[in-house]
Amino acid sequence: MVSMDGKKGSPANETWKKILLVVFDGLGDRPVSDFGGKTPLEAASTPNLDALASTGACGLLCTAGVGVRPGSDVAHLSLFGYDAKKEYFGRGPIEALGVGFGLKDGDVALRVDFGTVDDSGIITDRRAGRIENVAELAKSVSGREFEGVKFFVAPSVGHRGIVVLRGAGLSAAICDGDPHHDGVAPVKVAPTQKSADAEKTASALNEFLEWSHKVLKSHAFNKQREKEKKPPANFLLVRGAGMHREVESFESRYKLKAACIAGGGLYKGVARMLGMKVIAVAGATGKADTNVAAKISASIDALKASDFVFLHLKGTDVMGEDGNAKGKKEFIEKADKAFAPLLKLKNIVVCVTGDHSTPCTLKKHSGDPVPILFNAEGIRIDAVQTRKFGERPCASGIVGKILGKDLVPELLNLAGRAPLVGD
Ligand code: ZN
Repeated sequence: MVSMDGKKGSPANETWKKILLVVFDGLGDRPVSDFGGKTPLEAASTPNLDALASTGACGLLCTAGVGVRPGSDVAHLSLFGYDAKKEYFGRGPIEALGVGFGLKDGDVALRVDFGTVDDSGIITDRRAGRIENVAELAKSVSGREFEGVKFFVAPSVGHRGIVVLRGAGLSAAICDGDPHHDGVAPVKVAPTQKSADAEKTASALNEFLEWSHKVLKSHAFNKQREKEKKPPANFLLVRGAGMHREVESFESRYKLKAACIAGGGLYKGVARMLGMKVIAVAGATGKADTNVAAKISASIDALKASDFVFLHLKGTDVMGEDGNAKGKKEFIEKADKAFAPLLKLKNIVVCVTGDHSTPCTLKKHSGDPVPILFNAEGIRIDAVQTRKFGERPCASGIVGKILGKDLVPELLNLAGRAPLVGD
């Protein structure tokens, strides 16, 4: 056996701590006038987070780089120390992994919205009346082959799903078929670079989309919807093509057996991409109504069998994108109430942060750094004794400003698991 110090024969060190990483999506914000210039986090009443900050070390985190405005997929890969320039292959494959589809190297995956087109081929509703479930429809168009390419379709949430292409010589260099607005016809998928593979992929996909439209149009499920005056989900609007490539697992990279607890498919997808075990929790919705207490309890339970647990909370980002500062503050307060058990953990490194900022004033992601707190036995507690977990109090913390790629090494250090560099 080789220990983390590389010394043969050393057993796993019993002083190694386990790690709980809590990520509030879009946590960071900017001053809100209704809160007297405080951010939603600064304005929120967060006694448990404040207690963790007061007995821990704080700072600011730029996940994908200083000033970089990352999407949640890239932000999370960066948080886990993966280089998005080399190890990010598009949103489609992550979404496919998120619904539990077993991707193989070389598969091309896309996200799909089940939309409605009228008899003249014009999109009248990109979400088919926000249809609640497309499982039956997805099944009816999955498994066919066109031009030597096999097509799989699987549902995710509501009107959403994924399409996977499997075959030799595919390419993800194709445009979206989704025009991203109603009132026009779906876009004919075209190659975005000159290559035989891209041309073949676009051609097979167009053939599949045309065929699936015919199948969906005459499907009994849609006929019933029409009878009920609901828009039929009769066209697959595809976007975000990416080619799946296996990457080194999180466990192989850091010697940490990892588990993920999340409601949103994207986060489960990132976790599966990195080989983490995804644990299902009843009441985890991926929205602000999620059951935070159930997720906390499941995370603590998961620490028994895992070295590293990644707990994701989406509500902050949802409220940020809605421009709902009050809702963001309330979600943080709801989560904080559920955090009480974290104060009692022994021999666990606890880290709370965000993946990026989603300021309510912007209603979109920004490149502003996010606050971060580390809490562990023996940690250098801030000289400033941060009393409030928030963007500006954390700016004076001992951790300073770190990048996403620094996060796991710092967690390993606090957990007593950092490998010795040199001799
Ligand atoms: Zn995010």
